[in-house]
Amino acid sequence: MSDKKEKFSAIKGMNDILPADAPLWELFENTAESVLKSYGYQKIVTPIIEETGLFARAIGAVTDIVEKEMYSFEDSMNGDQLTLRPEGTAGVVRAVVEHNMAYDGPKRLWYKGPMFRHERPQRGRYRQFFQFGAEAIGFAGPDIDAELIMLCRRLWDDLGLDNIRLELNSIGNAEERQRHRADLIAYFEANEAVLDAEAKRRLHANPLRILDTKNPAMQDMVNKAPQLLSYLGGESLAHFEGLKKILDANNVQYTVNPRLVRGLDYYNRTVFEWVTDELGAQGTVCAGGRYDPLIETFGGKPTPGIGFAMGIERLIELMKGQGEPAAPSQCDVYMVHQGEEAQMKAFILAERIRDAGLDVVLHCATPQGAGSFKSQMKKADGSGAAFAVIIGEDEVKNDVVAVKSLRGAEGAAQQASVAFDEAVDYIVDQVIGGGDCGPDCDEHHHHH
Ligand code: ATP
Ligand code: MG
Repeated sequence: MSDKKEKFSAIKGMNDILPADAPLWELFENTAESVLKSYGYQKIVTPIIEETGLFARAIGAVTDIVEKEMYSFEDSMNGDQLTLRPEGTAGVVRAVVEHNMAYDGPKRLWYKGPMFRHERPQRGRYRQFFQFGAEAIGFAGPDIDAELIMLCRRLWDDLGLDNIRLELNSIGNAEERQRHRADLIAYFEANEAVLDAEAKRRLHANPLRILDTKNPAMQDMVNKAPQLLSYLGGESLAHFEGLKKILDANNVQYTVNPRLVRGLDYYNRTVFEWVTDELGAQGTVCAGGRYDPLIETFGGKPTPGIGFAMGIERLIELMKGQGEPAAPSQCDVYMVHQGEEAQMKAFILAERIRDAGLDVVLHCATPQGAGSFKSQMKKADGSGAAFAVIIGEDEVKNDVVAVKSLRGAEGAAQQASVAFDEAVDYIVDQVIGGGDCGPDCDEHHHHH
């Protein structure tokens, strides 16, 4: 064995979320969860690994994801074919069918978590990324489509994001797409000279997906291709009109994008994307659509469904563009102590202060030791705590603690000596009522 220590780094395309970014993630997740709750959506958690066949079925064989992006492997213990989930709908639909969840009526569900796709890492495109998603199972009308879209709008509003626009389309049903498909293939064949290799490969397998191409050389051609919208029958059109009517009545701005598609048999009618121009090529922050035929293909009773998934990294980047929120403090109280007896008392008092609902960091030893008072006070300052509680030999002898305000006005009396047994009440009073903000201060509302 060599003496050289091996250094590890994260898998390419998989990111660490460090404490500096964590508050922004927390802000996003808390906001999204409370918006979903305000519409009556309930949380569901499914495993990160599922049978490979589930994704092939739910996503479709001729898709980017299933063709080339899945992390699939054989479980060496038993030979099972498994895949790290590339998206959330398949697992949720599997769970809905497996637990017969829709038996007593429709369900509004949401999920969050990491997804895995073997893509070329670049800005806004990672191999592990996080999605927040919702699925509404058992609702047939355009009303739920509108609800999901308006829920997203509320989330952008609550996050202060005003640079996301809505694109909308209807892809009808399988029969309508079949008629469109024949004309589409004929049109592409007539324009074969313009097709790139991928488009040629998809020409017969999944021609709809060619409309989605990002190849600049093909844009003009696909823009003039036959539009699926003009192949829709009465019911599909009525659904689409119904959706637009609700959106219009609620002042939801959108553009109809006839090229917005899902190249998959199980998707139907409404498709939508929320897009921004501020993230370069990866501008879609949320994609959604209806999948009425899907649940039946999983052996469930015919049950309509619609959902969306948003890419959290892309939304975090948009939030960063609006300026970082102030770094939150690590704790309310930082406990400084010197000597073994003082340390014992500090432990006891820290637990009591936490019992009272405050956040406390107790100074602990590093390889350099416990540190002087002075170096401990530096740590207390750096923690962002409102107060330092100091216990030294004198305090132990007199059964008191010193409570020092770290954020009070300069020159004000900032330190008090308080009996050990009265310290918790005193500190709670100071933190809740004191400092430079009043009793309604935002910073402390989580304590009660
Ligand atoms: P694209 O056309 O950009 O590849 P997609 O159709 O593969 O998108 P969906 O499967 O609809 O994307 O996923 C929903 C959302 O999840 C996307 O709109 C995006 O915000 C996010 N997302 C998808 N893939 C990635 C990725 N590799 N890294 C980061 N975010 C992603
Ligand atoms: Mg993709």
